[in-house]
Amino acid sequence: MADPVQNSAAKAQHKNLNDLATMVSLCKRRGFVYQSSEIYGGLNSCWDYGPLGSNLKMNVKQAWWNAMTRRDDVVGLDAAILMAPMVWKASGHVDGFSDPLVDCKKCKQRFRADQLPQALEGACKEKENCKGAYLTEPRSFNLMFKTFMGPVEDASAIVYLRPETAQGIFVNFENVQSTSRKKVPFGIAQIGKSFRNEITPGNFIFRTREFEQMEMQYFVKPGTDDGFFEKWKETRWNFYLKLGMNSSKLRFKPHGPGELAHYAKAAVDVQYEFPFGWQELEGIHNRSDFDLSQHQKFSGKKLEYFDEAAKEKYLPFVIETAVGCDRLILALLCDAYREENSVDEETGRADTRVVLGFHPEIAPIKAAILPLSKKAELTEPALKLRDGLAREFAVQYDDAASIGKRYRRQDEIGTPFCMTYDFDSNTDHKVTVRERDSMKQERIALDQVETYLRTQIKAKAIAF
Ligand code: ATP
Repeated sequence: MADPVQNSAAKAQHKNLNDLATMVSLCKRRGFVYQSSEIYGGLNSCWDYGPLGSNLKMNVKQAWWNAMTRRDDVVGLDAAILMAPMVWKASGHVDGFSDPLVDCKKCKQRFRADQLPQALEGACKEKENCKGAYLTEPRSFNLMFKTFMGPVEDASAIVYLRPETAQGIFVNFENVQSTSRKKVPFGIAQIGKSFRNEITPGNFIFRTREFEQMEMQYFVKPGTDDGFFEKWKETRWNFYLKLGMNSSKLRFKPHGPGELAHYAKAAVDVQYEFPFGWQELEGIHNRSDFDLSQHQKFSGKKLEYFDEAAKEKYLPFVIETAVGCDRLILALLCDAYREENSVDEETGRADTRVVLGFHPEIAPIKAAILPLSKKAELTEPALKLRDGLAREFAVQYDDAASIGKRYRRQDEIGTPFCMTYDFDSNTDHKVTVRERDSMKQERIALDQVETYLRTQIKAKAIAF
């Protein structure tokens, strides 16, 4: 067994992720994320989540959903992706959801005019960087994907793939408020796909054209909005800390008056330091009563709230928290990655171990069941243990290669616990449980393994 003192020293010397390519390759190799339609050469900016990635994504969504909707003042919603086209007229997306686009006549690439000159750096495929000398005048490019509803493909049949989930919440405000009998202040949370025809997608799953958003709109009495804006900033910050993220890689970036979106009274981004620099992870916005008043105007339906206690009617203000699930997954992968100088726990030889130090709640696999040999006397009871645990936990059975190699495989996908079924297990009815970060091992009775795992995971639970 490895020396824990030596291990903690090795851990202290660990190296973090410093290039995105390492993560892209790990994700492909281990089955987290693949390029979409890869056998056809891939589809730009679209990605598929593999066996581990889909588990991870489900866990991230669950953690967010629980943090939001287990509060007494937030309820959930799952609105359709396709909505009445008037929704997007009212929200301002038809007329204003566009980016300024410029083309380089020399290298034929497209850039967002608002991202110049940084976007040009290293982008030109020509030997000599054209440095912006051949750029066209900016033109406005609407980011919404269009399609047709029904058999006739004419202008009257145009519908949009939603570019954000928020509008599904605004148009259902009255439905949700009256059926859930929630009183202002209260929130509505939603997770779902959004689509944006981004000019410059890239950086793996950071900016894609199809992505999943986790948004919450919190309806408050006008005049109380500033206080709730501050409260939600704190709540969202704490969510990331509870997920185990490194606080030195997180920061708030307030929007200056010139940077505010048309609907916003105040806005702050939660930024994460990705290997390609500080970037927005989540947006927290004070949207004032912009959306409800627009929908009231365009639909002709009253969306005012009657405050029984104060005996007054008003249009609530909205504090919004909006994070991309895929972008959060990238941040979590980068944050969890570390390379440690270590020793092989079986041979004692020096080696490097790659670890994804995921919080157990989001780890795609909670425990690996490893029979020490492929002999039936070990594999049969080990499989029985696997089946028992699988009723409650995502577990993986692995009987291939040396135990040291199998530990490394699990470290690299972030499995918090490995359970080795060895020759003693048949007589003492115990397994060796090895913890990922400390690499400490202990013998746990077979009939206690389930409780052990539950307790270990619960002890770190991400409560709201
Ligand atoms: P950006 O400035 O990066 O384009 P945004 O300010 O337009 O983002 P919002 O409209 O506030 O983003 O969307 C909320 C969140 O949705 C973002 O913080 C981000 O996490 C996620 N998101 C937005 N666009 C994309 C995209 N193209 N791909 C992946 N996630 C996205």
